[in-house]
Amino acid sequence: MSMQRAYEDLIGRWKELQLLQSCAAVLGWDERTYMPRGGAAHRAEQHALLAGLSHERATAPEIGELLSRIEEGDEQFTPDSAPAVNVREIRREYDRRTKLPRSLVVALAKATTLAEQAWQEAREKSAFETFRPHLEEVLRLTREAAEALRAGGSAYDALLDRFEPGETSQNLKRVFGALRDELAPLVAAIVDSGRAPDASILTRDYPIANQTAFGIAAAAAIGFDFERGRLDETVHPFCSGIGPGDTRITTRYDRNRFAQAFFGTLHEAGHGLYDQGLDDAHSGTPMGDAVSLGIHESQSRMWENFVGRCRAFWTHFFPKARDVFPAALADVSPDAFYFAVNDVRPSFIRVEADEATYNLHIMLRFELEEALVEGDLAVADVPGAWNERFERDFGLRPPDDAHGCLQDVHWSSGLIGYFPTYALGNLYAAQFFEAARRDLGDLDGQFAEGEYGPLLGWLRERIHRHGMRYRATELVAEVSGEPLGHRALMTHLKAKFGPLYGD
Ligand code: ZN
Repeated sequence: MSMQRAYEDLIGRWKELQLLQSCAAVLGWDERTYMPRGGAAHRAEQHALLAGLSHERATAPEIGELLSRIEEGDEQFTPDSAPAVNVREIRREYDRRTKLPRSLVVALAKATTLAEQAWQEAREKSAFETFRPHLEEVLRLTREAAEALRAGGSAYDALLDRFEPGETSQNLKRVFGALRDELAPLVAAIVDSGRAPDASILTRDYPIANQTAFGIAAAAAIGFDFERGRLDETVHPFCSGIGPGDTRITTRYDRNRFAQAFFGTLHEAGHGLYDQGLDDAHSGTPMGDAVSLGIHESQSRMWENFVGRCRAFWTHFFPKARDVFPAALADVSPDAFYFAVNDVRPSFIRVEADEATYNLHIMLRFELEEALVEGDLAVADVPGAWNERFERDFGLRPPDDAHGCLQDVHWSSGLIGYFPTYALGNLYAAQFFEAARRDLGDLDGQFAEGEYGPLLGWLRERIHRHGMRYRATELVAEVSGEPLGHRALMTHLKAKFGPLYGD
């Protein structure tokens, strides 16, 4: 069999696998939006069947044989060409899946299902002790998985690699350490400034139908294509790229919380714009897929914060908002509104955190989960370690574990090594946005006119259309001209919050 034939065979199999997984994605979207509660048990069976089929196909020995035939042949694909990228990434995924013994995969699935239930109960009662044995079991199995997957780096690196291929804990420590050194004093200065916006502006009466219309208009304005996607309601908002021409975004509404639905919509639309910008010609292969969770998050964060919370954006949108929500905004000045959407204040809950303090939440989780995985921290000591570090970073002590180490679902779900991708998203976004500003000139002038096409076109050209051609670290260096670092994000945060909080 020629290399070309083997490659075509491999790609055919991989596209079928992706089709199967996209069927599961439709079911997952339905489950989280419209499925009646009564459908849960049947849906679980559908998911289990599809997951089993996917696993079988993804780990089929034929895939391994085709990969070897391509890799060991005399001819080779040109590095960075589409076929070379596809082979590299399919190899990575195949190895990851086949290195884990089936018994471990099954044990992890069971342990995390039980742990998630235990976590929900424990969080409601703020009772860490009832969750502790479950987290110990999930951690034990996760460490076993890390040992099986480990290739040179640390155990934590093996877990991180699943979400952010190529990233290492050593590099994260370097970047996060430098970020913390500058961010903590900035947050402290904001708190000490004694200044604060009138945040009550955002909790007035915002009728939900108007919020929906306003959110859809904003998502469309920044370029989300509603012919190739839709927006629905859910409890925990997400974006699901079902396939070419079908990107689903979601948000949740509260009549008295304008910011929640609006910035949530911009965030998910940012994810959606990335999915809509992937190259359809490469659909179903790594070249038509997103680079990593961190790069995905950079797109959502850019539209949510760098665009959606900038002054020029509201120069365009505030008069419209006033028309749509006259009762809430008639007596509000554009400056007061702009300050309100950029309210910075230390708080206990990550998902409600502002643009500045958010990264402190993430770095704290990274520090703890890395110590757990490397055996430097016992599960029983998590609440104490959490509270101690929280006080160090935020100057506040969580009143209970529900407001501390029990607030996030990730660890109970076995998503250890996932948290850093949120902070990476912010760091990448800052570097990309700075580069876009360099290339596109007066971005603020464009935003104030309601023109978002130049920025979106730039993102399509520099990032979206390349699929997985570059690893995140390469892409960031390539697009921004410098390796991952804290400088661009801190420059952005200081430039924004200095004037608001009186330098
Ligand atoms: Zn996101």
